[in-house]
Amino acid sequence: MTTLRKFLEKSNIDADIAYDEPMSRHTSLRIGGPADALVCPRTTMALAGLIQAAHGRAFPVTVIGGGANLLVADAGIRGIVLCTSSIRFMDEPLAIHDGLRLVRAGAGVQVNELVAYALERGLSGLEFAAGLPGSIGGAVYMNARCYEREMADALVTVDYVMPNANMGQIDDQEHCSTGYPEAGTASSGTDQDNVQSYDMIRDDWAYKQTPFMPTGYLSGAIIMAGSFVLLPGDRPAIAARMADHQADRRAKGHFDWPSAGSLFKNDRRFGRPTGMILDELGFRGRRIGDAMVSPKHANIFVNAGSASARDMLALIHEAQQAARQHFGIELEPEVVLLGDFTG
Ligand SMILES: Cc1cc2nc3c(=O)[nH]c(=O)nc-3n(C[C@H](O)[C@H](O)[C@H](O)COP(=O)(O)OP(=O)(O)OC[C@H]3O[C@@H](n4cnc5c(N)ncnc54)[C@H](O)[C@@H]3O)c2cc1C
Repeated sequence: MTTLRKFLEKSNIDADIAYDEPMSRHTSLRIGGPADALVCPRTTMALAGLIQAAHGRAFPVTVIGGGANLLVADAGIRGIVLCTSSIRFMDEPLAIHDGLRLVRAGAGVQVNELVAYALERGLSGLEFAAGLPGSIGGAVYMNARCYEREMADALVTVDYVMPNANMGQIDDQEHCSTGYPEAGTASSGTDQDNVQSYDMIRDDWAYKQTPFMPTGYLSGAIIMAGSFVLLPGDRPAIAARMADHQADRRAKGHFDWPSAGSLFKNDRRFGRPTGMILDELGFRGRRIGDAMVSPKHANIFVNAGSASARDMLALIHEAQQAARQHFGIELEPEVVLLGDFTG
């Protein structure tokens, strides 16, 4: 039995654990080799405790949300892949000043669920995100953006746990515990041992840039929840705006094949969207194995069958090389690469 497996089995973590789990089952691209251990804690307490304990034992931990922006290597991911899908609490809207409402959602809540929740209560501010795949944790981490708005526009606070080797060592016989509100229950605040709260500083956030990313000062933190400010509005009008965005995504072929949305970031300095640049380079429909550039949108790379990560990466490199050669520009992937691509 591996050391990792022993550690997980002895620690009695309240979690669903799958060993050698194919990551292709957990990514929207349907690509990715096995994770040594995919661990989905059932409670926020278990999640926070696991992070600290794994950090204390120096096991690598990779966090995933809904897997909607990931390209995972064919070799898979070593160590623990921590999934947040059970961190699903949503607080009742809290009235704050000027009629505004604050809504907090756990990291594992799907963005679309929060969007529907806001609509049910006639709250405006998240219409732009209707139809956006993925979880709150992933959307906050990525500062997901569409229809001229981004998560940071509505975000007020982020609850997170920062791994710290001196905290939360798991006693081999005991469950992980931190005291953060249990999933599915009303929350009681975030002033617990390990969970810290970040208050929005707008300058920390920009296009696809957040303090939680590798260059940010909160890099390595695991996002537990996001609180969003919303405004009471006209329910039919909110519903209409959401429906427009969903229809637009369908029309653009977002859901025709497995994908991770836009493959590359846009960059104002290029003077036009990346999709247009790739069109000019004739990339629409280009294919390596089953990795294909969508025939409907040149910045959406899709899995047209049983694509490997290797083929997808080769297609990415081909596009980057063409953009470099023809226009002297560097296309930067928006999609997050996880695992070892060197083999
Ligand atoms: C059809 C389609 C359309 C899309 N359209 C858009 C779009 O319009 N705009 C846009 O911005 N994106 C778009 N995307 C990409 C994707 O929806 C977003 O990036 C989304 O926010 C990813 O969320 P996720 O939960 O799936 O994160 P994942 O893909 O699982 O993870 C993304 C990153 O976030 C990190 N992460 C996830 N959860 C946490 C957490 N709790 N704590 C710390 N780090 C975490 C991961 O480590 C990883 O680095 C699209 C994707 C698809 C498939």
